[in-house]
Amino acid sequence: MTLEDVPKQLFIGGEWRGACDGRRFAVHDPATGDGIAEVADAAPEDGLDAVAAARAAQPAWAALAPRQRADVLRRAFERTAAASEDLARLIVRENGKALAEARSEALYAAEFHRWYSEEAVRLRGEFAVAPAGTNRMLVLHQPIGVALLITPWNLPAAMVTRKIAPALAAGCAVVLKPASETPLTALALVAILREAGVPPGVVNLVPTSRNAEVASAILADERVRKLSFTGSTEVGRLLLAQASRRVVKCSMELGGNAPFLVFADADLEAAVAGAMVAKIRHNGEACTAANRFYVEEAVAEAFTDKLARAMGELVMGNGLEAGVQVGPLVDRATHAKVCRLVDAALAHGAEARIGGRPADGPGYFYPPTVLAGVRPDSPILAEEIFGPVAPVVTFRHEADAIAMANDVEHGLVSYVYTRDLARGLRVAEALETGMVGLNRGLVSDPAAPFGGVKQSGLGREGGREGLLEFTETKYIAFDY
Ligand code: NAP
Repeated sequence: MTLEDVPKQLFIGGEWRGACDGRRFAVHDPATGDGIAEVADAAPEDGLDAVAAARAAQPAWAALAPRQRADVLRRAFERTAAASEDLARLIVRENGKALAEARSEALYAAEFHRWYSEEAVRLRGEFAVAPAGTNRMLVLHQPIGVALLITPWNLPAAMVTRKIAPALAAGCAVVLKPASETPLTALALVAILREAGVPPGVVNLVPTSRNAEVASAILADERVRKLSFTGSTEVGRLLLAQASRRVVKCSMELGGNAPFLVFADADLEAAVAGAMVAKIRHNGEACTAANRFYVEEAVAEAFTDKLARAMGELVMGNGLEAGVQVGPLVDRATHAKVCRLVDAALAHGAEARIGGRPADGPGYFYPPTVLAGVRPDSPILAEEIFGPVAPVVTFRHEADAIAMANDVEHGLVSYVYTRDLARGLRVAEALETGMVGLNRGLVSDPAAPFGGVKQSGLGREGGREGLLEFTETKYIAFDY
């Protein structure tokens, strides 16, 4: 499905249609800043129509045999995988990341359909005798009902399937509001789900430029029982406050600020290779991106040198061009933030070993940058950079590295490199993050529980846990 073929409408109750007030909004190519498409712009009334369609469709979907829901998801996997090259090109057009990154995202996105087609038939409960022996206890997991899904622009395919697939497997119907920067990939995915046999009303899509109005209207509707959000901690807090008014169950995948710890006994070549994956994947615009490098003093110079060399070899350009490894950042605001953080770090005494200045326009390009001698109180360490910038801080003692790594409000993922497995596990246990990559720069896997602690979120996506997020637990006490 090419850019031209992608439906550019809302999808409600199994029909493609325009917004009720006829509005549309533009989608831009970050490599040029030019408009590439116009998409129907949902109004709050359209959001409520989508809720009505989901509510009408949900009971029949939930009543299907799990195997039937699994079969639909299996077909969705096959079709998404078959369309992965087209999806990858769409991702590049609206998000900017390099084609190789987009290809891996498209396949990763397809895998959520596969994993949850397999999990749909394994939603087991429990049976027990009450401790007093007075009765039996039955615990089951029922679909929670209509779910509002809100996704970000940085992984426009995978963040969509990571929510839709478990929701459908559990027997829920959904209303998806994709990021306004990247609605085209979501539109293509919903078209694929329709072809795979998802019944009308089970998946509804409301792209919109009116995010707050549409989300508020939907969240205030009593038919909605679940909010699954991926995005910034700031917006997550706003949505949690709104959801609290009707005590809507929330899953929150929020911002990260991942520390990457390198001990002197680490395999430095492997650490640099892992650092490149953890830093550069998806242009550095990933919640899992290594944001702060803490390197033991004895190997700090060698590690920084090798990292700067590897970063310096990356090819930056339009993501669709052959050989390009780093594309433009998604928009002007993201670019401005990276410039501001690097400038502040340099003003605080850091030294740019490579990069350190924005590229000339057009497009929102920022070259791969390694900053040495970053002070532990530098502002660049306190925020998500969301760009190809690696600040390096040195440490002397394990306890100091752990303390600095934990000294932030976020707690999504951390990375540790050491040859000493006992140290690796000890440090991994002490790090206040929901996930740890031990001698690995990549942790994401549809089969694993992905999520954060502290202000990085609530709940988990992926694995069995991701399915349970779309269920309510019911306990039946009975006697016979
Ligand atoms: P964002 O600004 O929070 O936006 C995320 C989504 O929320 C978009 O669909 C956005 O719509 C919508 N939104 C924004 N303001 C809203 C409001 N007031 N009410 C309702 N919806 C609203 O985040 P982003 O910049 O797109 O994404 C980057 C962030 O996502 C980073 O912090 C990253 O760490 C995080 N992230 C986390 C994970 C994870 O799994 N933990 C994964 C990926 C990304 P518009 O597009 O219209 O603004």
